[in-house]
Amino acid sequence: MKNMNLTHGLWKKTAPEPQHFNPFEGKTKTDVAIIGGGFTGLSAALHLAEQGTDALLLEARDIGFGGAGRNVGLVNAGLWLMPEDVISKLGKDMGEELMRVLGASPDLVFHLIKKHNIQCEAHRTGTLHCADSRSGYRALQQREAQWQERGAPVKLLNRDAAAVQTGSTLFSGALLDKRAGTVQPLAYAYGLARAAHGAGARLHTNSPVTSVRQTASGWELTTTGGVVTAGAVILATQGYGEHAFKDTTQQMIPFNYFQFATQPLPENILKTVLPDKQGAWDTNLILSSYRLDDAGRLIVGSVGQLENMTYSLHKNWAKRTINKVFPQIGNISLDHAWYGCIAMTTDHIPRFHILDPNFITVTSYNGRGIGPGSVMGRLLAEYIKIPDATIIPLPVSQPENVFGRRLRGLFYEAGSRIYHFAQRRVSAF
Ligand SMILES: Cc1cc2nc3c(=O)[nH]c(=O)nc-3n(C[C@H](O)[C@H](O)[C@H](O)COP(=O)(O)OP(=O)(O)OC[C@H]3O[C@@H](n4cnc5c(N)ncnc54)[C@H](O)[C@@H]3O)c2cc1C
Repeated sequence: MKNMNLTHGLWKKTAPEPQHFNPFEGKTKTDVAIIGGGFTGLSAALHLAEQGTDALLLEARDIGFGGAGRNVGLVNAGLWLMPEDVISKLGKDMGEELMRVLGASPDLVFHLIKKHNIQCEAHRTGTLHCADSRSGYRALQQREAQWQERGAPVKLLNRDAAAVQTGSTLFSGALLDKRAGTVQPLAYAYGLARAAHGAGARLHTNSPVTSVRQTASGWELTTTGGVVTAGAVILATQGYGEHAFKDTTQQMIPFNYFQFATQPLPENILKTVLPDKQGAWDTNLILSSYRLDDAGRLIVGSVGQLENMTYSLHKNWAKRTINKVFPQIGNISLDHAWYGCIAMTTDHIPRFHILDPNFITVTSYNGRGIGPGSVMGRLLAEYIKIPDATIIPLPVSQPENVFGRRLRGLFYEAGSRIYHFAQRRVSAF
């Protein structure tokens, strides 16, 4: 555990060297200030700059420090919720529009990667949602039907076909979604930052916004190094809000998710594990994810954090899981570990807040932020140009603290510990 980087783990090790951005110092004016250098903030900065708007991004730490640099890297289409569930929460018009926009979000991600030549281990070979129970299989049948009704290229594979695509005989089926793919998420964030800077946006790292004040003409943001005066502000701090935005995390349920990466698999074994490099996850409530990186490491993840005794507990679970799901791998060392906090809402729908006509945020993607963050950043940039709330297919709501959020977070945490302590224990020995 000594040499493990428990924040960005493997992604930090294999991402290309990031572009250096100076901390903000002094005083300046900008049309739009963006707070937070994850997918949402970076995409907003890029699209604002491309539309000719003066944009300045302030990141408290480093580019990709939050969820962006810690995630699994599954570029998913849509939300965790099935389309019909989204419609029952948002109504037909808005629900269908949100599904259309987010269903197409991988198009934007892979377009940006190509356009800006972002080196981020991008693969658009689809993803696999794997059934590990009968009820999971039935849920995938529903998911398939609902997306197919909307013309999406999804197909439920039977047990044999799922075994070929995953390299595991454990799953009774898998939903292949050809819209989706995988990226090295921190490298994607670095690439967006480089592209935004190249398009003319000003970016500053190690520049936390410590206070915000409304003025006659806009907003005054104080950072640890100076003061920025902005006509409008896009807030993009999601679950990692700190300093002036520490309280915003009270509006989300914290949901920790860890990952362990093996050493590169031997060539002959690698051919048998996720042979088309599709990212995969299962239908379990305490879900697990599986993907490869370009060096042939298997990355296994699940719910929980990696602090103190939980590190060994989850590491042992990861070893047992690899043995069970991909027995052909045999014993292998786990060389990298990291985790992050996913911002969840009680209804699993992201939030759109107009805190003031010139202070806006879209937040809480419930574990699906690569596509949605990239898309919402673009839509927020559009909104700045034409302030029409219908541009963003989400209800405008007021921030609300989640009742008992810490308790709910602890519930997930305790559940994952008990589950990971017990799961696959018998068959592991
Ligand atoms: C472990 C994990 C696994 C995930 N897996 C996936 C996945 O496979 N696929 C997927 O699509 N999504 C996944 N997600 C979700 C996804 O990573 C997030 O939804 C996404 O990162 C949100 O982007 P964002 O730009 O809105 O926020 P973030 O990426 O969290 O960025 C917020 C930024 O704001 C900065 N900030 C905070 N306070 C201040 C301040 N006062 N001043 C200036 N800056 C500040 C932070 O330092 C941070 O860099 C996962 C998330 C986690 C944590």
